[in-house]
Amino acid sequence: MLETREGGCHCGRVRFRAEVDLDLLSHCNCSICTKKGIVHLGCDPSQFQLLRGKTALKSYTFGTGVAQHTFCSHCGMHAFYIPRANPHRLSINARCLDGIDGASLDPKGFFDGKHWEEAQRRRIAETGQAPPPGAHGAKTLQAILDRAPD
Ligand SMILES: [Zn+2]
Repeated sequence: MLETREGGCHCGRVRFRAEVDLDLLSHCNCSICTKKGIVHLGCDPSQFQLLRGKTALKSYTFGTGVAQHTFCSHCGMHAFYIPRANPHRLSINARCLDGIDGASLDPKGFFDGKHWEEAQRRRIAETGQAPPPGAHGAKTLQAILDRAPD
C-alpha cells in the first residue's frame, strides 16, 4: 500500500518525501549494496521530492556509470540513489525513512546483482518492465535536483 513517508541522511542535510510501498522491500548482493547494507524501496521520480540537501548531495559512480550512488557529503549516508537496473526510477534506502525499525525490516524481493547482466535479463523477462531507451541515472538525478529547492 502506498503511503507518504519522509526520510533523510543522518545529519539531516538531505531530506526527502516520497510515496512508498513498504511491502515491496528488496535487497541485492552486488558489491556496493552489500557494503551499504541498503534495503531497497523502488520509487517513481514523480512521487519523490528532495526537500533539501541539493548542495550536500554528491554522487559516486563506477563501472558503466549509469547508477548514481548519491550520498550526503557531510555524514556519508546513502539515503537514496538511482539504480542501474532502473535508471529512470530511484531506490530509497528504507533504513533512512523516519521512524523505521531497521532490525525489523524483512525484504522479500531479491536482485542477484552479483550476476547483474543475467539478473537484469531475468527481471525484465519476468516483469515485462525494461528501462526506456536512453534512460540514464545522471538524467534522472538531474531532474530531481532541478525540482528541488536551493
Ligand atoms: Zn548528512
